[in-house]
Amino acid sequence: MAPLPAPRAIGLDVGATKIAAGIVDNDGNIAERLPAVHCPAGNQEAMLKTAFGLIETLRSRQCDIAAIGMGVAGLVDWPEGRVRTAPNSAFRDTPIRRLLQDATGLPTVVDNDANAACWAEYRLGHSASYMAFITVGTGVGGGLILGDQLFRGRTGIGTEIGHMIVDPHGTEVCGCGTVGCLEPLASGPALARYGSTAASDRPRGSLATLAGGPSQVTGETVTTAALAGDLDARVQLARLGHWLGIGIATLVNLFDVELVVLGGGVASVGDPLLDPVRASFEQFVTARAHRELPTIEPARCGPEAGWIGAALLALDTHRTRTTDAHQTAGTRPHQGGQT
Ligand SMILES: [Zn+2]
Repeated sequence: MAPLPAPRAIGLDVGATKIAAGIVDNDGNIAERLPAVHCPAGNQEAMLKTAFGLIETLRSRQCDIAAIGMGVAGLVDWPEGRVRTAPNSAFRDTPIRRLLQDATGLPTVVDNDANAACWAEYRLGHSASYMAFITVGTGVGGGLILGDQLFRGRTGIGTEIGHMIVDPHGTEVCGCGTVGCLEPLASGPALARYGSTAASDRPRGSLATLAGGPSQVTGETVTTAALAGDLDARVQLARLGHWLGIGIATLVNLFDVELVVLGGGVASVGDPLLDPVRASFEQFVTARAHRELPTIEPARCGPEAGWIGAALLALDTHRTRTTDAHQTAGTRPHQGGQT
């Protein structure tokens, strides 16, 4: 008898202005992927309509979809899948999981986008039973695996790593309104700010020249120059790494993780960022001589980790729930059962 095909799920990654989507099987093999679709950030109806359209397109290409997973940039209740608020989009108290499940008839999970990316890395990339995953891009986000489970706190909105307070007497106001969060000190925009200041101080220097002027410096300008060996750019990455290292030291002090993975666009620069991160972490972690220090690694999963992780989360959650239901009721789990 031919083996049954591996179950597949649709994954979606809903960012501030675009949605990426595709289909993976239980081993993370990509069966389909669609080009990311841009949609208006301030229009909840339009974003949901776009998501439904992507799901229908994918279901028309693959008929054996077992579940749907969505990662959303925002505060998401788990397991309800209700988006309380999303800083860069229009979702407010939106029951996305129920809306998707009602519309498709498929078991669905909705989680924070960084949790989804963390799950992709845990399942397919660098993996450990106790690990922290931090994305460094437009913002700073992350997820935490404790005992091989995503840790979400009481309601699902935990592990807002970007809003860890690291510099309360500083000057940078976070998007959340607080002074001292990690995000405005260690994100892509922070790197652009550091680079722009350096370029203003040295208007004939490499960063100003490469960008076409101090005000034109972006995070990408700095990472490109750093990879080319530019010392000024590396100093700016070291400033970013200093703050990230402090954040990681706090995570390790609290949770004793054995692995820290850095993902996101800025982290893809590799050692010019990771070296100062490791140095700062070792400076600030407590009882350094009396603990096994975790390794700090660049993510193996790339920019598609959000939707891939959401799909894997859907498959893993669906399997766990149907197994639990099977054990409770003493009946066979059925394909596509509602949760
Ligand atoms: Zn904040």
